Amino acid sequence: MVFDLSDRINRIQTSQTIKIADITRDLIAKGKKVISLSQGEPDFETPEHIKKAAINAIEDGKTKYSYVDGMPLLKEAVREKFLSENSLDYKISEISIGTGCKQIIFNALMSLLNPGDEVIIPSPFWVSYKDIVEFAEGIPVLVDCSIENRFKLTPDDLESAINKSTRCLIINNPTNPTGSVYSYDELKSISNVLVKYPNIFVISDDIYEYLVYNDSKFHTIAEIDENIKMRTLTCNGMSKSFCMTGWRLGYGGGPKKLIEAMSKLQSQSTFHPSTISQYAAIAGLNGSRDFITDQKKSYEERRNITVSYLNNIDGITCNTPEGSFYAFPSCKDLYGKRTPNGEILKNDIDVCAYILKEAEVSVSPGSFFGKKDYFRVCYTAEKNLLSEALNRISNAFTLIK
Ligand code: PLP
Repeated sequence: MVFDLSDRINRIQTSQTIKIADITRDLIAKGKKVISLSQGEPDFETPEHIKKAAINAIEDGKTKYSYVDGMPLLKEAVREKFLSENSLDYKISEISIGTGCKQIIFNALMSLLNPGDEVIIPSPFWVSYKDIVEFAEGIPVLVDCSIENRFKLTPDDLESAINKSTRCLIINNPTNPTGSVYSYDELKSISNVLVKYPNIFVISDDIYEYLVYNDSKFHTIAEIDENIKMRTLTCNGMSKSFCMTGWRLGYGGGPKKLIEAMSKLQSQSTFHPSTISQYAAIAGLNGSRDFITDQKKSYEERRNITVSYLNNIDGITCNTPEGSFYAFPSCKDLYGKRTPNGEILKNDIDVCAYILKEAEVSVSPGSFFGKKDYFRVCYTAEKNLLSEALNRISNAFTLIK
């Protein structure tokens, strides 16, 4: 049978980072000893008290359908978290729970955008923003952010990108793929621009909130100005710091009108996130954050190992990232060099393909994130494995001429 797919689905592509993760898994299944530094996933186990809460929920028969956009108990835990950790005072009616932070962002953009509405996305960017905007018939406006400003959006760049079609700004802090962190003052100067444009909505993706190193402190744009909070959706989730990627649980706080629209959409799609995951998330949010402090120490050590290895490779330069768990080195100086097979490295995709083939390590080309000439290394692998991967990469580059 011959049939066509919708224009809507043809507009988007499968997440490139998910594709790399699939290729890596296939190679491993074929017996290759590939080390993955491509997927943004903690190697730590979900903490015991969170697992236990889920097991208890199953054993107590709490396995039925639940409320559309989250159980009241979980919404209360999220409300309390926003208030105590971010000084954001949301009402229960201003909170939405979804199947991952990704679904929260998807629901929001689908509820906010009309065809042709422009969405400003600082670039490099997390791969899904662009496709979700396109799926929602919006127009992604990628604003190139320079390495000189550590790939962060400047107020001038923001203002230059705004026009009468601008509907939304997406801001991700700490940032995937660069590991950059916006300071309070930087967010303040962005919010000073936004104050002049009351019709622009803000989506703040704070999924890496707890992963801020050195003495930097995390801030989120809605805390800066009530005027901005009224038109911001603050998005977050359990995946990264609570080591719950597979549980699929995310949440957002924002204006009631948007939260209700997102709930309507969710009621006609996934209905609600797994009831069991919701019980687990309540235990996570209401429990101690001590394990996050330990994790952070470990990531910081891995970050330092990663940056130091990478900077020792001729042709690679890497900034020290301040947050999340990614490093984003430049590989431009490798271009023109010849691999042992006689292939010339011409771009970041060639560099990553060479790393995969020769070193059997998967990393992601910067082009996927809107920034060619760089690549992303996710340093969540266990320390010895990470060192082995980086060693293999170093050795592979001693072979190029
Ligand atoms: N936002 C960013 C910036 C991410 O990097 C990711 C996952 O990699 C997500 C959102 C999605 O998180 P979740 O697993 O909660 O859907």
